[in-house]
Amino acid sequence: MQRRNFLKNSSAAAAGLVAAPLAISCTEENRSKMTSQNSGTIRPITICTWNFENATAKAWEVLKEGGSSLDAVQQGAMVEEADVTNQTVGIGGRPDRDGNVSLDACIMDKDGNCGAVLALQHIASPISVARKVMEETPHVMLAGKGAEKFAYEQGFKKTNLLTEKSKQEWLEWKKTSKYEPIINIENHDTIGILAIDQKGDISGACTTSGMGYKYAGRIGDSPIIGAGLFVDNEIGAATATGVGEEVVRTVGSFLIVELMRQGKSPQEACEEGVRRIMAKNKDRTDFQIGFIAINKNGETGGYCIQPGFSYRTYSKEGHEDNPSDSFLKA
Ligand code: ASP
Repeated sequence: MQRRNFLKNSSAAAAGLVAAPLAISCTEENRSKMTSQNSGTIRPITICTWNFENATAKAWEVLKEGGSSLDAVQQGAMVEEADVTNQTVGIGGRPDRDGNVSLDACIMDKDGNCGAVLALQHIASPISVARKVMEETPHVMLAGKGAEKFAYEQGFKKTNLLTEKSKQEWLEWKKTSKYEPIINIENHDTIGILAIDQKGDISGACTTSGMGYKYAGRIGDSPIIGAGLFVDNEIGAATATGVGEEVVRTVGSFLIVELMRQGKSPQEACEEGVRRIMAKNKDRTDFQIGFIAINKNGETGGYCIQPGFSYRTYSKEGHEDNPSDSFLKA
């Protein structure tokens, strides 16, 4: 028995030795495959989950002036955080089941630097605090009260994030306390935004109030580097929206970037990312996840589980809402 385990482990280790170079570096063959899939390099460019026109317009404004992709994604994300009508990001976000709006966000730059805040309350722009975590601390993540204290130290103001509309809806929800997310409507408007600047450098940001009426302290994929967002400046970037628990289980955004490293287009990589999730959820049709991705050439892709997801792109070739193909059909 022990020997069998040993043999199993040693053959896995041997397989790992063979597979490792493929998984961690972009081979010349794959690099040329990625390049030949593209007619030309598109840059600068930005792409975000859902049809967040104002966010991509803001990011584009930064990019076309020669600004960095890091500033572009932060400022794009901030537009949605400040929009009180968006009930899944920033101010106006739906609260947890105790009535507290708690926000999650992360940001990642071209050098693999990253910062995140988890379950942050009373601060209007979690993405900006995440950037401060990245730039001003030796850490990657700050959570809860610690993140809030850090935000005040950095000059952020205490803000009431619960709008009257979100409060009234929460009070209504409390009458039955049934957790039944409505696909594409409730809970699924996280903004994940990616950009390539004029220099060709890639950054990404992801910000959300998470699932409406979640357990206090619940964290989804959005502030988790590798799950809700991943950037590798050599290859590309990916980000996610939807039921975070399932994205975390497959480390979705990291997976998609790794698939691009192995030669898949952003579209193919997003499709495989969704297929991996569905392979573990064969009988489930009641949840939504959408992935978007961009590669170093500015080629983009997106794919989702349920019909209804779209992603927005903005480059010198124009800006548009791209309806995403889905794993399940209408
Ligand atoms: N991914 C987010 C979360 O699980 C939710 C969403 O995209 O709306 O917290």
